[in-house]
Amino acid sequence: MEKLLDDASKRLEKALKYVSISDDASQRLKHPKTSLSVSIPVRMDDGSLRIFQGYRVRYDDTRGPGKGGVRYHPNVTMDEVQSLAFWMTFKCALLNLPFGGAKGGITLNPKELSKQELERLSRGYIEAIADFIGPDIDILAPDVYTNDMIMGWMMDQYSIIQRKITPGVVTGKPKTMGGSQGRDTATGTGAFYVIQAILPKFERITENTTIAVQGFGKAGAVVAELLAKAGYKVVAVSDSKGGIYAEKGLDILSIRGYKKQHRDIAAIYCEDTVCNIGEHQSISNDELLALDVDVLIPAALENQITENNAHNIKAKYIFEVANGPITSAADDILDQKGIYIFPDILVNAGGVTVSYFEWVQNRSGLYWTRTEVHERMKEKMVTEAQKVWSISQEYGVSMRTGAYIHALNRLSEALDAKGTRD
Ligand code: GLU
Repeated sequence: MEKLLDDASKRLEKALKYVSISDDASQRLKHPKTSLSVSIPVRMDDGSLRIFQGYRVRYDDTRGPGKGGVRYHPNVTMDEVQSLAFWMTFKCALLNLPFGGAKGGITLNPKELSKQELERLSRGYIEAIADFIGPDIDILAPDVYTNDMIMGWMMDQYSIIQRKITPGVVTGKPKTMGGSQGRDTATGTGAFYVIQAILPKFERITENTTIAVQGFGKAGAVVAELLAKAGYKVVAVSDSKGGIYAEKGLDILSIRGYKKQHRDIAAIYCEDTVCNIGEHQSISNDELLALDVDVLIPAALENQITENNAHNIKAKYIFEVANGPITSAADDILDQKGIYIFPDILVNAGGVTVSYFEWVQNRSGLYWTRTEVHERMKEKMVTEAQKVWSISQEYGVSMRTGAYIHALNRLSEALDAKGTRD
């Protein structure tokens, strides 16, 4: 199978021809700057020792310290972490945040570990990468299957090593440890702002717009709920085990409550007499992606829409809330079908934008209200979404290429200003 990073770089290639960028700068952007691979020994509850594989990649730090989340997932590989760090580089440039791009990960199924084991693993990860990170070097954050509790352990461990409280090394922390208001819901809320800014351009009537959301985690569940509240018809949602569909629209708030208690959306179907979700049917993730809806929101993992299933997609607009859910081969097929794709590096950038606000608050010691955080994030997301829209209109290119052109302009300016030191 093709490497994920090679596939990700194809988007860069497409945009390069529209940007006046030096050869030096474009060459440098095709390679991750530093890739660290670590083994993390963890004492398990039964007394045995287990060694976990971890990674941290700083793809580029020309515009500022590396920035990006840490993923806990069984499929984490160096290739995946490098691709995620590549996307972070372009995402931070697109939003004009003073950061480069980075990412980390540990290969494991976190659901198999006790809370104590998870804590020892998270602290062990920081022990292993401590020399490689810092508030002015590389800043961590949550990603798939990591949360504020884990970020709190990481920041505490780093502070122990440094012998000083260092909140700015990790964002997405618990609020009592310097976490920002609104960080937990930032990715889904930011995506909602982008959708609200873009859909009116197509003169869509909110109540008639049907939406399917794949993935019901920190991002998917929030965006589904906000869209339903705003009057859109969210007809299907799913998680890794499967999903549910209702032609008339789903009660997202009840589904969120139910998932919190029972973990799986698929279980709702079996027990629908208890959960009061209303009339609905069970569907698989593949069926959800192929639904005849107006808007499709992949909010789970990468590589969900590939050349194998792109032909089945019937949605008119796709908003990528996950990182890399569509392969570049699938992109071409969807483009030919006239489907509008709004790319990950724009749509899901609300998370890192509020991470930036958290880092700023940690450095200044002055904390903002939830409303302030949301208003500032909205302003940034909508401004950059409008710019990407104008670029794509001006050059006659897809929104994805428009987003890369916009980010590349900022990156190349910084790379050239710095020079090559050779
Ligand atoms: N993991 C999130 C992302 O992929 C957030 C990263 C951050 O806040 O640094 O954008």
